[in-house]
Amino acid sequence: MSRDQLEQVEALSSRVSSTGEFEGADGEHAESREFNRGSRAKRAANHAHKRLVVVGETQVPDNKFKEVLKEHGLQLRKTKIDTLQINVGKMCNLTCHHCHVEAGPDRTEMITPELVDMLVDSAERLGVTTVDLTGGAPEMCTGFKEYVRKFRAIGCRVMVRSNLTILVAEGYEDFVDFFRENAIHVVASLPCYSRENVDKQRGDGVFEDSISALKKLNSVGYGQEGSGLLLDLVYNPGGASLPGPQAGLQQAYKEQLGQDFGIEFNTLYCITNLPIGRFYSDLKKAGTADAYDELLQSSFNVATVEHLMCRNTLNVSWDGWVYDCDFNQMLELPTRAGAKPVHICDSEAIANITGNFVATGNHCFGCTAGAGSSCTGELL
Ligand code: SF4
Ligand code: SF4
Repeated sequence: MSRDQLEQVEALSSRVSSTGEFEGADGEHAESREFNRGSRAKRAANHAHKRLVVVGETQVPDNKFKEVLKEHGLQLRKTKIDTLQINVGKMCNLTCHHCHVEAGPDRTEMITPELVDMLVDSAERLGVTTVDLTGGAPEMCTGFKEYVRKFRAIGCRVMVRSNLTILVAEGYEDFVDFFRENAIHVVASLPCYSRENVDKQRGDGVFEDSISALKKLNSVGYGQEGSGLLLDLVYNPGGASLPGPQAGLQQAYKEQLGQDFGIEFNTLYCITNLPIGRFYSDLKKAGTADAYDELLQSSFNVATVEHLMCRNTLNVSWDGWVYDCDFNQMLELPTRAGAKPVHICDSEAIANITGNFVATGNHCFGCTAGAGSSCTGELL
């Protein structure tokens, strides 16, 4: 990356930054300094510091996942990119236990309009068909509606990952209509169909608000046959276990939500909890982290590898750094061009991304266990 580009990155990242001072890059590899300069706002946060410790001491030097791929004669490389997943910010109205983003109401990181324009340009150049907006609660990002319109204007299908509760929160009442008008594909978290389990994982009152939001979405056509308005739900286990088979669980969700509340939806995505973030910290505190690692590694399924989402997805952080997936973003394992982390303003690196190696670590066993896992559920 040139000095001009680096200055551009810093300017783009500093407009809406979190508080705190840059802590310096002592002991880090020279090739990482550029990345660290650009993401200094993140580095200042305690959360980020904790993650770096995990990456530095556990994930990268002891990459068993890479060894297992090698044993099977496999390499994980990028194919043509068809999905651009953008983490527009870390602000969220909830603070869920399993949150790998470590989002919450006090997180201030947010994407800038200049970066969005760059991403629109990249999406066009790469021929991306789907833009997947995530957070935090993406709806809380300043300029969110305008950003959606920009991606729709270039013909991209837009998917929004909603925690549902924000759709019934004060000040966000018009978002369901906005989604309908722009034919947004809504992917909504609902970790269980029981009040007890949802509130335990996400906080008191979350289940009730989620049900209200689902009814609101149904009332404008979402999840209804023939409407063309897709409403998919996301399930993840409440503890250190693999999700059950997706088809069976989807059936149970449909029956229970239909019977109890008259709610309809399209597809249930079953997602495995990756051993990172708050979820992994909780396992460590409970002394079950090693057993969970062992479960994921012993459940490795080679057939999942060719379907991994990191192959055809580019994930971009609120400050423009490029990753192979959302999980790598949280671990600060950026996509690299040669030795250098890639920023979205590096148009040459972006144009040549196909064929690059995917950055992996032991957390990747979470995506290859059993039937596999991705942001759109089971892989097989
Ligand atoms: S709703 Fe999603 S982003 Fe917000 S805290 Fe929960 S898991 Fe994290
Ligand atoms: S965590 Fe999953 S999606 Fe991300 S790089 Fe690893 S295998 Fe790929």
